[in-house]
Amino acid sequence: MSSKFKIFDKCYAFKEAEQARAAGIYPFFKPIGKNAGTKVIIEGRELLMAGSNNYLGLAGDPRMIEASIKTLKKYGTSCSGSRFMNGTLALHEELEVKLADFVGKEEALCFTTGHQTNMGAISTLVGRGDHVITDKYNHASIMDGIFLTVGLNKSVNVHRYRHNNYEELERILKSIPEDAPKLIVTDGVFSMEGDIVDLPHMRLLADKYKAAIYLDEAHAIGVIGDTGRGTTEHFNNSVYADIMMCTFSKSFGSIGGFVAGDAKIIDYIKHFARPLMFSASMPPANIVAASTALEIIKQEPERVQRLQQIGRKMAKGFSDMGFDTGSTTTPIVPLVIGNNEKAFIFWKTLFEKGVYVNPVITPAVPPNRAMIRTSYMSTHTDAELNQILEIIGDTGKALGLI
Ligand code: PMP
Repeated sequence: MSSKFKIFDKCYAFKEAEQARAAGIYPFFKPIGKNAGTKVIIEGRELLMAGSNNYLGLAGDPRMIEASIKTLKKYGTSCSGSRFMNGTLALHEELEVKLADFVGKEEALCFTTGHQTNMGAISTLVGRGDHVITDKYNHASIMDGIFLTVGLNKSVNVHRYRHNNYEELERILKSIPEDAPKLIVTDGVFSMEGDIVDLPHMRLLADKYKAAIYLDEAHAIGVIGDTGRGTTEHFNNSVYADIMMCTFSKSFGSIGGFVAGDAKIIDYIKHFARPLMFSASMPPANIVAASTALEIIKQEPERVQRLQQIGRKMAKGFSDMGFDTGSTTTPIVPLVIGNNEKAFIFWKTLFEKGVYVNPVITPAVPPNRAMIRTSYMSTHTDAELNQILEIIGDTGKALGLI
């Protein structure tokens, strides 16, 4: 088959997905028929879910569902416009006040997704001639924010340092003129490896070289810190980030995102962030779901503690079996497999045996570091976790991986 127009030639030449489908090892876009939290129905079979970001199990919590239904009935299904124009509800502003208080910042601003939050906040804060310094393992949405910055401002200086490598970070900072505006951007918890940024070390360097810190807390809020307040709480509130963001698509069981910081900074972002100004705002039911989740997180810190205990149990379980789990200290537990093909085969075997996990392959990870990303929910029972350990352990042995 070929295309009528040259512009589409690349689409017709793209074969990898087709080949993987034909070989029966294509792991992406699997429709989930019924999502009951720790168990899901896919292709008519029940699988144990070990690959969701619904960390606190709130996406299926009856209180979340009830609050969302009530809101749908009162406000309808959409805001039909951007925050800038007809798309701001009092509900958005009430949630923003609560979020700012929760993370200890003056103000917060909600976007429609976490991806848009990073795109909007980063592209607004980093301007012509400024320096942005980013960890190579940061989430794609951070890079997309930088790409948008580059597209808009042309002469932005982008520096990437090896993952959590503070010597390299310092070398970069030292090489930038002292008075040049600088923003260090980092994930709090890294989404694939499950390790945590050394924020105290980064803060020292940031202060020494007059750089501000932008912290992505997508996998940190609800996950680390005794009460789920994320990376700063994990470090006993001894350090801070100048500006932080989080998504609602993980611990908050909804969709959307927010950025928080000084009132003047948030007001500036509000007036210049293109993804906020030119895209429709968070729908009412999702605002209320996020708000309900925030209340539950505040009232039930035992969920966070259970999640942390599960993370420790699973990481220890897998590493005792001989798996390489990298440097995780969170409920994101990667199993480093090697090349892409091995990761696909491992994924498929687990899928057939009834465990859903996510394969992460190059180019998302460096060559020969293809992995199976496992992640857990505070609602997993010990029996479910033991079953997951057993199935993954048996499969690892059968495939000669451990
Ligand atoms: N930041 C990080 C670290 C993430 O992992 C993600 C989502 N995977 C996002 C931002 C984007 O969040 P959302 O799903 O709300 O677009």
